[in-house]
Amino acid sequence: MKVTHVEHIGIAVRNLEDAIAWYENVLGLKCYAVEEVPAQSVRTAFFKAGQTKIELLESTAPDGPIGKFIAKRGEGIHHVAYGVEGLEAALDEAQTKGVELIDARPKKGAEGMETGFLHPRSTFGVLTELCEKP
Ligand code: ZN
Repeated sequence: MKVTHVEHIGIAVRNLEDAIAWYENVLGLKCYAVEEVPAQSVRTAFFKAGQTKIELLESTAPDGPIGKFIAKRGEGIHHVAYGVEGLEAALDEAQTKGVELIDARPKKGAEGMETGFLHPRSTFGVLTELCEKP
């Protein structure tokens, strides 16, 4: 597959407003978008740090992926997202190479991105997102 860059790092937080204030006041980054993604039961906030984005994720449902993650492991780094050229082919290739997929087909993510997740069991413990701007 062809990875072009680290698209963003996803960080699970309990309270999006508190976390936005911290990133703005301490790191001096500017939140440029807040978006709810109902399909993933999350509210997201985005920052740019140079070429790489930081995606803060707050759960909107206790049984959603971020709600479950925080209940089990607390706040912290949730996933690393790589930009790829040809997401469907990249997911197929990962599967062919024995990687366990969470999403066999691309799904709609924040910022109009198509995304697919690889299971941390197959990726040395890091939930890995592949994404592409359609
Ligand atoms: Zn993400």
